[in-house]
Amino acid sequence: MGTFTGSFKGFGVTFAHMFRKVVTTEYPFKPPTPAPRYHGRHILNRHPDGLEKCIGCELCAWACPADAIYVEGGDNTEEQRFSPGERYASVYQINYARCIFCGLCIEACPTRSLTMSNEYELARDSRQDLIFTKEQLLAPLLPGMEQPPHPMRLGDSEKDYYLGSLTNPGTSAGAERAGGADASQPGEPLSRGAA
Ligand code: SF4
Ligand code: SF4
Repeated sequence: MGTFTGSFKGFGVTFAHMFRKVVTTEYPFKPPTPAPRYHGRHILNRHPDGLEKCIGCELCAWACPADAIYVEGGDNTEEQRFSPGERYASVYQINYARCIFCGLCIEACPTRSLTMSNEYELARDSRQDLIFTKEQLLAPLLPGMEQPPHPMRLGDSEKDYYLGSLTNPGTSAGAERAGGADASQPGEPLSRGAA
């Protein structure tokens, strides 16, 4: 009798599941959309004229608990300028065999150069291919941007150059102004998540 009721309960559970919402995703044919602030593959962002925001300071590498970032800084010159500052990253690598997607590196970045995208398809056939180079991580050139090296394409003033970042989402100046703060008083950006 006990075996009979046990079986009946088991069939009942199976039957009840037949009317529940199916949670199976048809990956890779219909890849699921992650949450907006999902931490995926990194991006090295650019200024609106195409110059790189990264100044090769290595703060991201020092903040990384998994030792996944390698940076070598180089000096900008008037003939060879890659970023607005004195320095740029001549070498920049992220090892996705080590990265745990914690986001500490993007918190440490002082220029909002480094942000994280929603891209999660990072599986590769070899460990070497999991080391992404600067060329792979750099944001693509958008219309109106020029491939560095080139001089800063200033607006009417140097201030315009940075405030123009309002049209370039992910910058601290843009985030501050979007929040209604006075852009002439730099403060903590309102949005610090993945961009
Ligand atoms: S997300 Fe975390 S583990 Fe990955 S590179 Fe950044 S700091 Fe390192
Ligand atoms: S990504 Fe940011 S923290 Fe890392 S080296 Fe470049 S400017 Fe510095």
